[in-house]
Amino acid sequence: MKEQSKLIRTQAPRSSNREHSVPLYLTSSFVFDDAEHGRAMFADEVEGNIYSRYSNPNTSEFIEKVRDFEGAEAGLAFSSGMAAVFASIAGLLRSGDHIVAFRSIFGSTHQLFTQLLPRWGITTTYVDASKPEDFEAALRPETKMVFLETPSNPGLELVDLEWLGNLKKKHNFILNVDNCFATPYLQKPIQFGADLVSHSATKYMDGQGRVLGGVVVGRKDLMKELMFFIRHTGPAMSPFNAWTISKSLETLAVRMDRHCSNALKVAETLEQHPEVEVVRYPFLPSHPQYELAKRQMKQGGGIVTFIVKGGFERAKRFMDALQMIMLSPNLGDTRSIATHPASTTHSKLSDAERAQIGIFPGSIRISVGLEDIDDILTDLTEALNNSIN
Ligand SMILES: *Cc1c(COP(=O)(O)O)cnc(C)c1O
Repeated sequence: MKEQSKLIRTQAPRSSNREHSVPLYLTSSFVFDDAEHGRAMFADEVEGNIYSRYSNPNTSEFIEKVRDFEGAEAGLAFSSGMAAVFASIAGLLRSGDHIVAFRSIFGSTHQLFTQLLPRWGITTTYVDASKPEDFEAALRPETKMVFLETPSNPGLELVDLEWLGNLKKKHNFILNVDNCFATPYLQKPIQFGADLVSHSATKYMDGQGRVLGGVVVGRKDLMKELMFFIRHTGPAMSPFNAWTISKSLETLAVRMDRHCSNALKVAETLEQHPEVEVVRYPFLPSHPQYELAKRQMKQGGGIVTFIVKGGFERAKRFMDALQMIMLSPNLGDTRSIATHPASTTHSKLSDAERAQIGIFPGSIRISVGLEDIDDILTDLTEALNNSIN
């Protein structure tokens, strides 16, 4: 079967009730056939569900869809994207290990690298992705992992995955990619040599702003180590969230097509507007890495970032002038959302740190939704025109 069919046809085994749509398995534990069965399950001699902290039919179905879509060997589900990102690092690294990370990353991942991991003796060096050589220069003998997001949030900078995959052939590190912004529909890091791919399933995978979730897929040997970590630390995804997101994956491809076509139109329209300084969108020819975007992504994604003329005060007036588009920190929803990164998601960074990753006082991130494109463009254009002073 083709990808899109598998996202729909992969289902938890049908029960004796012969249901058509997969039911929700709200159960914390499962029963053993007899005492010997229980012993064999705990000894890993037979496979099956024991306890929902380890596995559950709904989470297994969700994992199987993402595993196959990313072209990975194995996968694990988590209560949130941050639980997934944290486990993909903490479950594999130990004191004394070193990480090389792309500077432009999700706000909480930055806090993890700078505030939390150092408590356990794990250090991080940040690099600029516009100069891929910097990744190599930052590698040390104790570097165990290279971590990145592409495209990045909210600057939409890209990292050349093929280049990094080749670098991995010379150096021994785990390549860990947060593929949340692109989704496996637009980009498959494992094809370029990534060992691990992590996701916030809260974003495009659910796609309707309802539940939190996370997933990590990748090499089987690494997943085995991570399974030990999550079995005994407990960041498991709830069956309800797995059921919800697994249903949503059935429509991921059609939703992404529309997110991307709407976002491209938003980017093109904003680029023509006299009140806009600059627009960033991977599939705009003016993007400094346009050629790379075309090479490693199928389409440009659903996020557009731009700088409005007039700095912070103007950005605030623009946000308040929006009529339909909501102000929220989320993204990847059917509803279009505007975010002001400097005062919200990236407010914990200093001005200098923000400037380094392309966030300025006038930067605005639009998560372009699935409303009629005419309504989205009208709201943005009128808010720009009505916020001049
Ligand atoms: C939202 C997000 C996360 C964190 O995911 P949660 O589900 O909110 O915990 C991590 N990485 C990226 C790129 C994100 O956008």
